[in-house]
Amino acid sequence: MQPTVWSALAHRPREPGLTTLESTTTTTTCLGCGCACDDLEVVVANGQASMASPACPLASAWTGGTWPAAVRASGAPVTAEAAVAAAATLLQAARARTLVIVAPGLVLDAQREAIALADGLHATIDSATSTAAAEGILAAQRRGRPGATLGELRNRADLVVFWGIDPSARYPRFNARYALDPVGTQVTTGRAGRTAVGVSIGVDHAAPADLSLTFTADQEVTALSLLRALVHGTPAPTVPPAFAALTDLAARMVAARYVAIVHEAEPGAEPARAGTRAEALITLVQALNTPTRAVLVSLRAGGNRNGFESVLTWQTGYPMAVDFGTGVPTYAPAARGLSLLGAGRFDVVLVAGDASGLDTATREALSGVPTIAIGPRASEHLPSARIQIDTGSAGIHEAGIAYRMDDVALPVHAVLNHPVSATETLRALRLGALAGASPA
Ligand code: SF4
Repeated sequence: MQPTVWSALAHRPREPGLTTLESTTTTTTCLGCGCACDDLEVVVANGQASMASPACPLASAWTGGTWPAAVRASGAPVTAEAAVAAAATLLQAARARTLVIVAPGLVLDAQREAIALADGLHATIDSATSTAAAEGILAAQRRGRPGATLGELRNRADLVVFWGIDPSARYPRFNARYALDPVGTQVTTGRAGRTAVGVSIGVDHAAPADLSLTFTADQEVTALSLLRALVHGTPAPTVPPAFAALTDLAARMVAARYVAIVHEAEPGAEPARAGTRAEALITLVQALNTPTRAVLVSLRAGGNRNGFESVLTWQTGYPMAVDFGTGVPTYAPAARGLSLLGAGRFDVVLVAGDASGLDTATREALSGVPTIAIGPRASEHLPSARIQIDTGSAGIHEAGIAYRMDDVALPVHAVLNHPVSATETLRALRLGALAGASPA
């Protein structure tokens, strides 16, 4: 037991003026997807939040529902203090044989606590970064990343190519706020000043657009290679009939002032192609930056996922899959901690964040390892965890900083109270687990 450690939680400062009894309307930043819209109006009444505007189904799902506040150890209800102490004891025994998984739903301060804890234990830390997103990150590390902020996209792009993606389901307001509809400083007529191109690849369908192209999954790499050659122009490639539409698309790209190629960085219907697609799109965008200006827009899911990748990068140099076992951070993207879960590599796993953001295989693998779950709805999403501490969620109960999909940091706000703060629980756990520890 570390009562002095727990005092940090017991005296957690709350935002003034919040109440669960009155009905109030407040504006907050939504983490329902990577767009991180900062104009969400939320009504708070009877301890629950619900969307007022804008109309966005993902945002409604993100703000709604109930938030449990269970705290359990070995299946029995305990105090939060006792749960943290028990978790600290588990981590002290496991030390370097600990895997810390940072799931979505945490503000930056909470993510930093998880990293500091993994560092102090000489443990391994990984994230909920999907395999598809990870392959895109690795492609960018190999090739470079010709990216832009969503603000630049909004203000400058006059040709927007949706490559195997219709953003309307997973990123409902992306087109309205950033890609197609808004008036930009350099696109002063809004939608009328932009050309939209939809390229469907196999079962990865693009939305109807001003110009629509369709290729099979097996034709994708050839199509991207031909486009790159057409953009270079010398020597002009021979274009097979099945790819004839690419000649017009390449001409439009070269003639545009600012091309944005939008793709899904999270798992799509063709997940196996994520790595090759990302790499080929990067090289196409790089080729386009000779005759004109072009960027690649990688759509990411919400919950501050890429915030964690940024924090981990500026603390260790790497965005995921870091092993502190030697005392210094080591990058191991080819053998991620997640993939080693079932191989007996770890004695204890700490899941920090919303475990519903983990893929099914990871959650199933967790059932075979003693697990500490600290995060929003932990007791619901990881009922097999030995220690479960339900906490508030970033942007609903916890204020701080979260990253938009384009790595722009935004403030998020607390609109509801929750009895347990994820940030302060992780801080208390770090202090408890590392108490008296000396560097190995
Ligand atoms: S588009 Fe995404 S970030 Fe914007 S309101 Fe909808 S779910 Fe929230």
